[in-house]
Amino acid sequence: MSEMKKYVEDVLAGIKKRDPQEKEFLNTVTEVLEKVVPVLEEHPEYKKAKILERMVEPERVVSFRVPWQDDKGEIHINRGFRVQMSSAIGPYKGGLRFHPSVSLDILKFLAFEQVYKNALTGLPIGGGKGGSDFDPHGKSDNEVMHFCQSFMTELYRHIGPSVDVPAGDIGVGGREIGYLFGQYKRLRDSYDAGVLTGKRVDYWGSLARTEATGYGLLYFVKNMLDEKGIDLKGKTVVVSGAGNVATYAIEKAIELGAKPVTCSDSSGYVYDPEGIDLALLKDIKEVRRARISEYVKARPQAEYHEGCKGVWTVKCDIALPCATQGEIDLASAKALVANGVQAVGEGANMPSTLEAIAYFQEQGVLFAPAKAANAGGVAVSALEMAQNAEHLQWSFEEVDEKLKGIMGRIYKNAKENAVKYATPDDLVAGANIAAFVRVADIMLAHGLV
Ligand code: NDP
Repeated sequence: MSEMKKYVEDVLAGIKKRDPQEKEFLNTVTEVLEKVVPVLEEHPEYKKAKILERMVEPERVVSFRVPWQDDKGEIHINRGFRVQMSSAIGPYKGGLRFHPSVSLDILKFLAFEQVYKNALTGLPIGGGKGGSDFDPHGKSDNEVMHFCQSFMTELYRHIGPSVDVPAGDIGVGGREIGYLFGQYKRLRDSYDAGVLTGKRVDYWGSLARTEATGYGLLYFVKNMLDEKGIDLKGKTVVVSGAGNVATYAIEKAIELGAKPVTCSDSSGYVYDPEGIDLALLKDIKEVRRARISEYVKARPQAEYHEGCKGVWTVKCDIALPCATQGEIDLASAKALVANGVQAVGEGANMPSTLEAIAYFQEQGVLFAPAKAANAGGVAVSALEMAQNAEHLQWSFEEVDEKLKGIMGRIYKNAKENAVKYATPDDLVAGANIAAFVRVADIMLAHGLV
């Protein structure tokens, strides 16, 4: 075993020994560190400076009590966290998640991923993640507001526009960001607009943030196809999900001349052989907030199928998983390949299992990994910070143009590193290495901190 492979194994063994219960964190660290062995071999200074040991230890973890009262007067105690993983490149940046499954392990894993995704954008943002085991489902507006106010009453001490800039994630949307911002502003007695991103456009939010992840995914996939001389125009696209990422991936795919034929929610999927009717999809999901099964009532030629896995059996040239983690397993990957899929672009976070990714790569399917392909959302969040610092709001076109440039550069960077250190089409390795090198070099420049 090479010296650097052994170094990586020792670091991983150290995590296992110290925090044996943190399985998700260990998995994601393993995935990144195993890919960077060739870079460590070229740069022994990283080992000398113990860069890996420093990267896997959060700079700071805050854990706190969140007491709140429901509408009936009953008192509840939740747990709040903020994991400030790395401020090498800029203020900690990453979402807040409100979901019963939230634990320190999950947040450490998400914060670690966020550091490298943010590094890939080329923008000045570090990485963090936070949240609570609070479940917003079934809670009244008033209860959500009281919870958010209590959560911010502790969190405000640890964040700030140049310190740590949280955003939304699962269970934290525009409503929650509004309540959190209101309480921060009241406690600080200062209008620090750049302390949170994902704000509404009428008070310092960024235009094109809603569209950013879906549009960014298509810009990335188009770069990947262009390099191979494959035209996106006329391609049949299978998309999963019917939320924010899926809707705007479908919108941009149509604009670029492709034909998305599916969308799904957690109950089932729609197949429309004539192409998804975007106005109808938006009406169902954004206006009526109804189930996707409503789609076929207005489009008799479309089919609705119960269960969401079946979406991967629809014949297509390009597959864009935009719903949730783990949605493409090995069986789904095999079905896609058997039907001739040429490219897969991950809109959701970790939608393909490790076995599915390995299978796509083995079979020569072009594969755009989430860390790079869905970084458009956080990139536009960083542009929101820039607009807030300037006290200006840029036009939709200006933000979109910048997003396009950023996604092009992320692709180029991942590709160059894949060519240099792995195999030319291995964008998983390329993205991990590009991000790692940026963070590691800046850590070296800062000295032992
Ligand atoms: P939304 O909540 O807006 O939408 C998620 C969609 O996926 C819903 O239509 C949901 O259906 C559907 N869904 C959930 N579970 C399944 C399932 N098992 N099978 C099929 N469909 C399912 O979330 P987003 O669009 O914002 O996020 C989607 C993914 O993208 C997540 O992994 C998220 O972490 C990731 N992401 C999002 C970013 C953003 O900017 N929004 C940025 C980067 C990553 P239902 O209504 O039934 O729950």
